[in-house]
Amino acid sequence: MADTYCERCGEKIEGGALRYLLTINVTADFEGSLPNEGEIEDLEAFMAQMDRSDPVKLRNDVFQTRGFLLCPKCKREFMNDPLAQKTHDSNEEPQGGRVH
Ligand SMILES: [Zn+2]
Repeated sequence: MADTYCERCGEKIEGGALRYLLTINVTADFEGSLPNEGEIEDLEAFMAQMDRSDPVKLRNDVFQTRGFLLCPKCKREFMNDPLAQKTHDSNEEPQGGRVH
């Protein structure tokens, strides 16, 4: 069995050790974002135009899925901060600077 590595920190995950498969699905959500009926046709025409020019790009704009293999530490850190919001702030604000 080939060695596997955490795709976040690069740490080796021993065979049979606990590991996590993180799957991210990003789906376009048009609901509520269409201002009025008149523009729906425009959107459809726009989408159709994109479909002709580059179907793969259109598909990626509407739906994307990614899969990552994570070690337990990275899985825990990801679940604590899935959008990496705390990480962005950490350089400027000391830990514990904010209280929820
Ligand atoms: Zn890791």
